[in-house]
Amino acid sequence: MARVHIIGAGLAGLSTGVELALKGHELIIYEQANQAGGRARSFHDAHLDRTIDNGNHLMLSGNYSVTNMLETINASTRLSGPDHASFDFADLETDDNWTINFNRGPVPLWVLYERTRVPGTSMMDYVAGLKLLTAGNRSVRNLFGEQGQMYRRFWEPFSVAVLNTAPDIAVARLMLPVLRETLAKGAEYSKPLVAKQGLSHTFIDPALKWLSYRKADVRFGQRVSKIEVANNSATAIVTGKNIEPLGPDDKIVLAAPPWIASTLVEGIIAPDQFAPIVNVHFQVDGFDETKIKTPMLGLVGSVSQWLFVRGDIISVTVSAGHGLADKSSKEIAAITWPEVAKAYGLDATSIPPARVIKEQRATFIATPEQLVKRAPTKTHINNLMLAGDWTDTGLPATIEGAIRSGVKAAKAIMK
Ligand SMILES: Cc1cc2nc3c(=O)[nH]c(=O)nc-3n(C[C@H](O)[C@H](O)[C@H](O)COP(=O)(O)OP(=O)(O)OC[C@H]3O[C@@H](n4cnc5c(N)ncnc54)[C@H](O)[C@@H]3O)c2cc1C
Repeated sequence: MARVHIIGAGLAGLSTGVELALKGHELIIYEQANQAGGRARSFHDAHLDRTIDNGNHLMLSGNYSVTNMLETINASTRLSGPDHASFDFADLETDDNWTINFNRGPVPLWVLYERTRVPGTSMMDYVAGLKLLTAGNRSVRNLFGEQGQMYRRFWEPFSVAVLNTAPDIAVARLMLPVLRETLAKGAEYSKPLVAKQGLSHTFIDPALKWLSYRKADVRFGQRVSKIEVANNSATAIVTGKNIEPLGPDDKIVLAAPPWIASTLVEGIIAPDQFAPIVNVHFQVDGFDETKIKTPMLGLVGSVSQWLFVRGDIISVTVSAGHGLADKSSKEIAAITWPEVAKAYGLDATSIPPARVIKEQRATFIATPEQLVKRAPTKTHINNLMLAGDWTDTGLPATIEGAIRSGVKAAKAIMK
């Protein structure tokens, strides 16, 4: 059976590996870093003396590629979330609080009653969501910006979280596949899920363990600097450490981020504009996680967009955070902490120890110009496929998209 060389051990590369190892393929995985996970990883932070994630990652129970992969690698129990599909929100400008509770089944009964709708919205606001079906290239703001609280309290936070792009330029229609696979199918598919003890514990460690049982050769600290090509076939992989010649049946799955993939293979077009996500992890001595209603809170009317609590760490997420990412870590902590304090009734004046992580190229921006640059799985090189959240999965750049792209690449190889 052909050897498959996977470049990049992010979730796309790992899911490719899992899918191929299931069918007995021999694998070599090249990863430039000394750890796997790429943009979804955990590390021990000496300042906080806690293991934290590079960024909080929210998934939904309808993300079937995520749940399938975790089932395969025996890690299904490593995601956590409430039994109900409920999302708590607080508007820090008006002091309103509300919960969206999705009901079972595809008929959204919760939009029928004022007490279960987002405060300040009418039933017609939800019917207007159908505009997504014919949105073309219209932006989120262009499509829904006139809708007052429905825009401010639903479309804006939802689109920024899913697309990591400012709503005035984000292509609204890219939310459709996410809605179709999750919220539009009802509660069973809409439960929020997060990594129980961190992304590495949930995804990366069990995937590596599972792959090592199947004798995958995972090579850390091996940055691929060149892929040699002759007659439209890749012939060798060059790293700083050696040159790996490819056999006639060998295949490559290039699962590096877009800004690397496009430099490794001539002729590959990839998205080239990105948006940052800023995360602030506060270590709050004595904070009692069990006293708060929910470990996840959406914020409106503030710089902070989502709060996640794990133990005594309260983490803030700000997607499409262009203005914020330019500031110093100290400034960012000083801006976000009073918002956290207000949301959870804590002392706003003393900022606890904080770690700010700015992922400058968290995802590509979802604009019409960038979407046309998403590459298909197959390339003009016969034995080279692509995987990654940036490839043309039809989904936004998310964990679900990354994993699905890996499955797709593996299937293309097996064909
Ligand atoms: C802060 C943050 C928050 C996010 N929040 C969410 C969220 O809430 N929900 C969600 O679903 N998604 C979220 N995402 C997106 C999600 O993390 C990504 O979509 C996903 O991790 C991308 O996986 P990937 O494998 O495609 O790419 P990557 O994770 O970038 O993996 C690529 C791998 O290739 C390696 N590599 C690069 N160059 C080379 C080379 N030359 N040779 C060898 N190896 C190389 C890299 O080191 C890396 O390990 C977030 C992302 C960030 C950064």
